[in-house]
Amino acid sequence: MAANPEQIVKIDVDDTSNGHNIHYSFNMRSLAMTESWPLIQDYTTNCPVLPTSWTLAITYKQIPETGEVSCFVTLTRIDLASASVEATVSISILDKEKHFVRYPRPICSSQMLTTETIQGTFEDSRDPGLKNYVLSLEFILRITVLIRSCHLTENFDRQKYFSSNVKDKRRSKK
Ligand SMILES: [Zn+2]
Repeated sequence: MAANPEQIVKIDVDDTSNGHNIHYSFNMRSLAMTESWPLIQDYTTNCPVLPTSWTLAITYKQIPETGEVSCFVTLTRIDLASASVEATVSISILDKEKHFVRYPRPICSSQMLTTETIQGTFEDSRDPGLKNYVLSLEFILRITVLIRSCHLTENFDRQKYFSSNVKDKRRSKK
């Protein structure tokens, strides 16, 4: 059975004083069932100074016999603004109780202008949790994109912005 991306990814966002943290959470069971690769998700930051738009594409594979996971990630900036921002992609794995099976580790990072792309890969077979394939299907693969250098605290009314938006959780819209 094929699952579409809307059903298998959950997006949570922290807008902070130094940037935007976009967390894409994928249920590993749904990833194992997905037949279309890459999975593609778009997101636009809720930035008061320089909103930026991004396309995240992931290609994922887990080998049932060994539990070995590989994930190939491409991040492309797609807005029309001329200034560069700093983007970092990291990957972590969490269990059902939201404890880290694998702590977040950066896989790529760069100053990015629009249309630019960065890529990174993640491969792991050593984590004991992943070796039990059936158990690992309950895990969450989390890809976090950190956007920095888009706003500075002196550039906007911090109090006004964060009092209304810090708890805002939104899904991307196409
Ligand atoms: Zn910003």
